[in-house]
Amino acid sequence: MKAQWRNQLNVLFLPYPTPGHMIPMVDTARLFAKHGASATIIATQANALTFQKAIEDDFSCGYDIRTQVIPFPADQVGLPDGVENIKDSTTLEMLGQISHGISMLKDQIELLFQDLQPDCIVTDFCYPWTVESATKLGIPRLFFYSSSYFSNCVSHSIRKHRPHENLVSDTQKFIIPGLPQRIEMTPRQVAEWERTKNETAGYFDAMFKSETKSYGALYNSFHELESDYEQLHQSLLGIKSWTIGPVSSWVNEDDEQKANRGHKEDLEEEPQWLNWLNSKQNESVLYVCFGSLVWLPHAQLVELAHGLEHSGHSFIWVIRKKDENENEDSFLQEFEKRMKENKKGFIIWNWAPQLLILDHPAIGGMVTHCGWNSILESVSAGLPMITWPVFAEQSYNEKLVVDVLKIGVSVGVNENTFWMSLGDEAMVRRQDIVKVVVLLMGRSQESKEMRKRARKLSDAAKRNIEEGGHSYNNLTQLIYELKSLKISKALTEAG
Ligand code: UDP
Repeated sequence: MKAQWRNQLNVLFLPYPTPGHMIPMVDTARLFAKHGASATIIATQANALTFQKAIEDDFSCGYDIRTQVIPFPADQVGLPDGVENIKDSTTLEMLGQISHGISMLKDQIELLFQDLQPDCIVTDFCYPWTVESATKLGIPRLFFYSSSYFSNCVSHSIRKHRPHENLVSDTQKFIIPGLPQRIEMTPRQVAEWERTKNETAGYFDAMFKSETKSYGALYNSFHELESDYEQLHQSLLGIKSWTIGPVSSWVNEDDEQKANRGHKEDLEEEPQWLNWLNSKQNESVLYVCFGSLVWLPHAQLVELAHGLEHSGHSFIWVIRKKDENENEDSFLQEFEKRMKENKKGFIIWNWAPQLLILDHPAIGGMVTHCGWNSILESVSAGLPMITWPVFAEQSYNEKLVVDVLKIGVSVGVNENTFWMSLGDEAMVRRQDIVKVVVLLMGRSQESKEMRKRARKLSDAAKRNIEEGGHSYNNLTQLIYELKSLKISKALTEAG
């Protein structure tokens, strides 16, 4: 065996099967391989299919990367074949079955860890038990946090100080303790598992504990975006972290890779949305998407449709269908038809090639649910945002975008609601939607300034992933550090 081969770093990646976690971790594994490591991604069959093409292409270009497929226990949890991803769940019961199936993979994964003898494991923060696996193997565990430093710092502060308790009402504002900036929120905006003590909260306790016991953390972020919070994270958790983003624009270089990222079907040759966008003026179209999980209740869809139409601005709107009948919904059908006729709006059902669309010069802004990947992708494209958080840490990310970075305007959601529990009512009214769309897409001074700041951050994002940039250096330094650990371990074992 060549000495160079012996020294190659062997890293296992274990993503959590939901697009917002899996997409950036797969991109990260590909970056490790492109920087000389041997990368293996563990995934079940249906999940592997969503990224397999990219892995095969990288492999055929000479990079040392592969997927290790494990079977999902569909039968045992009572699910049809191929339903293996959190985004496939349409009911709470299904969500429970999928989550149970994922937790049943633990023994298989531990056996793989032993067989494949990695030098390091990079696991999603949702797998707290991998801290013990790494300890048993005597190797470092890095956890991959799929949201912002900011949101994790807010979570740690809220968990420690519980500032949302003992207030006169759940709409009373409090200041989040210990942050470098004055950030206010209300108890209703706090994530469910931090607000109340229930079974899910217990699961999150284990995750937060496992963070501090890890060797370090990987963040898909970049220096200029939240360096104050990167520092705060270090002092709150007492572990090292590496900021290596934005990974999506770093690793997905051409349109084909951007289009097919996280999705198994190929892009059409000449997609209709592209022709439609090509007919629009620069920066005149608003892109509206609520990520990979959220279904808005029907009443909210209706309100949003009216809001977009009455704003007078053009838009592309991605709507997730809950079941096949929804396409027959007469209101949305009528709406789609009307928008086609007057060329004001274009609807994409279920899944859009978001990276490609955001890069199109006709796009001038984004309505986002504040999932971290979407925020990063909007920032990378230099676009200001309308923030519409729904669940989890999305309301914290909104504060970063609106209050800290000042590159977005809030639509005014005051409630943090688990996406599966969204009620039948509309939370945001059409007149509020019109107001923020006009503000963002119009040429007001406020909008110009937000746009300018977003562009500056986009330039910074690009510099970060160039050779010599912060993120670039962080990744190469991390690989070097892990290799040194591997060598000292080998020397110790050799006596
Ligand atoms: N995404 C996409 N097309 C869609 C919906 C989502 O490409 O129609 C991608 C999006 O670009 C992002 C990820 O899926 O990379 C969603 O992650 P995010 O953190 O924004 O939100 P989540 O889905 O986890 O709520």
